[in-house]
Amino acid sequence: VIEVRNLHKSFGSLEVLKDISFNVEKGEVLCIIGPSGSGKSTLLRCLNRLEEIQAGDIEVFSTNVTKVKNINKFREKIGMVFQLFNLFPNYTVAQNIMLAPVQLGLMNKKQADAKALALLQKVGLEEKKDVYPETLSGGQKQRIAIARALAMNPQIMLFDEPTSALDPEMVGEVLKVMRSLADSGMTMVVVTHEMNFAREVANRVIFMADGYIVEEDSPKKLFTNPSNKRTQAFLSSVL
Ligand code: ATP
Ligand code: MG
Repeated sequence: VIEVRNLHKSFGSLEVLKDISFNVEKGEVLCIIGPSGSGKSTLLRCLNRLEEIQAGDIEVFSTNVTKVKNINKFREKIGMVFQLFNLFPNYTVAQNIMLAPVQLGLMNKKQADAKALALLQKVGLEEKKDVYPETLSGGQKQRIAIARALAMNPQIMLFDEPTSALDPEMVGEVLKVMRSLADSGMTMVVVTHEMNFAREVANRVIFMADGYIVEEDSPKKLFTNPSNKRTQAFLSSVL
């Protein structure tokens, strides 16, 4: 459902993505790992055209991303969760989740309420329906951010280090929600520093460095027997 061919992306004279090619199949979980500044976030942002690209092709659902006319309609199919949750502080949890689908006229108020409750159950926070974000822990906020992304019924979910701003004790609850999403068959691209998550949940792992895909393999192979020296060095520094 995602096909990236010979992608190049620069900021001014700085080339941060250099000839990137990969695919993601329906229902697959692809994890992207690599050192800071290697281009992981930029790559993710190119997939739903939050960044313009200089060369190459990105196809999502067989549509060339650079040629999409209705970008908002296109982005409805792709949910995105960031390191910082960006919940709206003056809306309740349920309102945060349902704001976009109601405003876009995809659901009426009653359908939206039912959907919000179902999503809150999915992320284990139904009792937080009517509270405001400031009363939530970081892990709870991130689970609400995931529920909000799911409210649009996306067919692909992109995650950019969703647990790296969290206190260690909150990481597990967010990974658990992501794991169950993966088990339900969601197509996911996950930039993460959580090597155990990548090892256990990913179907494939990409190691990036300096704007290149250095190595791409099954988690089993990549984590136990990486073929590239840079991958080995990175893994021994983080594991
Ligand atoms: P991290 O693990 O720290 O999040 P990353 O792999 O996600 O790193 P990117 O955020 O994609 O890395 O950044 C890749 C490179 O592009 C970096 O050198 C960064 O400084 C540069 N860069 C990213 N966004 C911009 C921007 N809007 N303008 C200029 N340079 C940028
Ligand atoms: Mg990043």
